[in-house]
Amino acid sequence: MNREIYGKLVFELSRPGRRGYRLPDNHIDPCAAPQGGEKAPEIPASLLRQTPPDLPECDELTVVRHYNNMSTNNFGVDTGFYPLGSCTMKYNPKINEEMAGHKLFASVHPSTPETSVQGCLEMYHTLQAALSEIGGMAEFTLNPFAGAHGELTGLMVIRAYHDSRGDSGRCKVIVPDSAHGTNPASAAVAGLEVVEVKSRPDGTVDVDDLRPLLDNTVAAVMMTNPNTLGIFEKNIPEIARMVHEAGALMYYDGANLNPMLGMARPGDMGFDVMHINLHKTFSTPHGGGGPGSGPVGVRAGLEPFLPNPRVIKTDGADGKPVYKLSVAPDALGSVSATLGNFAVQARALSYILSLGREGLMEVGPLATLNANYVKESLRDDYLLPIEGVCKHEFVFDGLRDKSEHVTTLHVAKRLLDHGYHAPTIYFPLLFHESLMIEPTETESKETLDGFIAVMHDIAREARETPDLVKSAPHNTPVTHPDDTAAALHPVVTFDQL
Ligand SMILES: *Cc1c(COP(=O)(O)O)cnc(C)c1O
Repeated sequence: MNREIYGKLVFELSRPGRRGYRLPDNHIDPCAAPQGGEKAPEIPASLLRQTPPDLPECDELTVVRHYNNMSTNNFGVDTGFYPLGSCTMKYNPKINEEMAGHKLFASVHPSTPETSVQGCLEMYHTLQAALSEIGGMAEFTLNPFAGAHGELTGLMVIRAYHDSRGDSGRCKVIVPDSAHGTNPASAAVAGLEVVEVKSRPDGTVDVDDLRPLLDNTVAAVMMTNPNTLGIFEKNIPEIARMVHEAGALMYYDGANLNPMLGMARPGDMGFDVMHINLHKTFSTPHGGGGPGSGPVGVRAGLEPFLPNPRVIKTDGADGKPVYKLSVAPDALGSVSATLGNFAVQARALSYILSLGREGLMEVGPLATLNANYVKESLRDDYLLPIEGVCKHEFVFDGLRDKSEHVTTLHVAKRLLDHGYHAPTIYFPLLFHESLMIEPTETESKETLDGFIAVMHDIAREARETPDLVKSAPHNTPVTHPDDTAAALHPVVTFDQL
């Protein structure tokens, strides 16, 4: 800014008796010469720009309107219902934000010596112990940054375990056909071959299809429970016995831990290694790629292979606990630059402590009740491929009446016109028109009733005025992006806009 104008402004705005904005006493004058005898660096003439920068010039009101309007184009759990199956878009209590944003947490640098961040390490250790109790595991690491990162870490732990026993021919991971895409992807990144196991018509893993696949080339079987169809896998103890007899380990994808929270534990079912998606089950606002945290838990005997560093509790000289970073010789190297996503961990601990044991045990039954209520209310218009009680989510195979060729994508886009986030679509891959709905435990009956009414309206429109649905959305800021181009050639820099 021009020095003269700036000076005038400061003078005008800070005149005694003037109402409105006052510059703070400690404001920094951006045009002032450097203090303390420092000399401003000389910029060679060849590097100086020849023309003034082409900055947008507009009045404050235009800028305020621009940014305010832009902020209202965003959609989140705090704006409206977000039934995105598999993602657990529950309400994120604001107390978590306050805790994670505490100025002492926010000002910690990752390289601060451990003696001066004892509180942070205590928090890490407390959460690790709480997750071990919730998962029925011996030990957790909080270092991985997401569910997928947890899967990769867990599979690397499994490989390290087999290698430590000289059992190095185990190169396969068995994954159900209903699994989330990250499962086979993580297995491939871990250098393991993926073998698919089929689901039965009731949506659970086919034990007879699994049995012949198990031999001494299998490192692990990855399972999600309840699975991505929202169906509780009742045969886990039998599967675990078969898998262990074959010398392989059981991996639990904990993205769907929500409906079991405090009620049932993967460790008790026979799982050896698991991850938890803290951002889903333990409430951090997430979406669009972050932020996340994917702690990995292991049963007793596998702790030595958890990645470095680990946080351990020791006795100090004065009897008070002292937390230390430990680096174990058999462990994996480090999987993250720091001790993981600290702010997401802080939110998770805040959530666990504020709900307490009883509160956590209400999560699953309420999530299950809400999902079944929506499912049963809509099954007259939407095709339910799997009968029976679901857990926290369920899948429709598109509209029941397919005569007008109104697809799941059309229904999802029409929902946007009504102010709802779309459900997950075309996943799982078991059905052509998958529409996966997860209402979560935090939504009221009124919200669910509103959503159910709109879903019925869309089904009626699909019969009576199908073009209205097929051409949706009609009132969103962006209407019909080219999905393929957006995926193949994403515009990620401002210059390209
Ligand atoms: C979300 C999810 C994942 C992946 O977790 P991210 O944290 O997104 O990496 C894996 N499995 C299932 C079943 C999921 O729903």
